[in-house]
Amino acid sequence: MMTSTTLKLPTFTIMALLLVGCASSPTGRNQFLLISPEAAILESETAYLSTVGALDEEGKLATDPNLMGRVGRITGRLVTIAEEDFPNSQDWQWSVAIIDDPETVNAWCMAGGRMALYTGLIDQLELTDDELAQIMGHEISHALANHTAERMSRAMATTIGVVAVGVAADNSAAAMAGAALLANLALELPNSRVAETEADTIGMELATRAGYDPEAAVTLWQKMGSLSEERPPEFLSTHPEPENRQAELQRQIPTMLALNPNRVKAPITEIEIVR
Ligand SMILES: [Zn+2]
Repeated sequence: MMTSTTLKLPTFTIMALLLVGCASSPTGRNQFLLISPEAAILESETAYLSTVGALDEEGKLATDPNLMGRVGRITGRLVTIAEEDFPNSQDWQWSVAIIDDPETVNAWCMAGGRMALYTGLIDQLELTDDELAQIMGHEISHALANHTAERMSRAMATTIGVVAVGVAADNSAAAMAGAALLANLALELPNSRVAETEADTIGMELATRAGYDPEAAVTLWQKMGSLSEERPPEFLSTHPEPENRQAELQRQIPTMLALNPNRVKAPITEIEIVR
């Protein structure tokens, strides 16, 4: 039986994290956040460690040294540029878990720079280094622009609703939803189309300045589109297509090329490849 005491803990935990405020995204858009970017990083760490720990126990973390080296080089260059532009990310625990799962076409980056990359994404789309740089740049940009905190804020609003329903229905399972679940819930929620456009632009710039071809942003989304005709990849459920995504990316190519005309490769920041 549910008692009022058992309800207090999750509700209190959620309320303790509440920090209603307005932040500003890198493009100057107002962001309404129920959770601070710092709290989002903290909750993401807990969620990441448990997710990756479970994958490790199932033996699903990739151990191929070539793949780990490739992902480490590409992501490490993106991180170098990210830390230049967003100095507070210098304290982040940048890391990538490469998940050996040929069926899953997905990648994500949580608040605080903790990433996951599924081998299905690389294999099914036959990604070039340039395309892989674009997709990881896009994911890192969601974290840099506080999109994780925005998604967690939405998950939080939902969770508070769930707790309220749990009270009404005397359902302890529903009421047990705690703050640490928010980061996981947030991963399932789609980004807004506005957030997608921001991540497209910031990600393309990170990848180009890191030394990768901006045209690969266009071919990447073309490949994603052709794949979705057969079976919609997981990735597309969390990354809804903004209006004219490919035309908009194409339009930005000349500006991007001017940022690094000789495609000089950025130095590689050493990041953790989880194993
Ligand atoms: Zn996205």
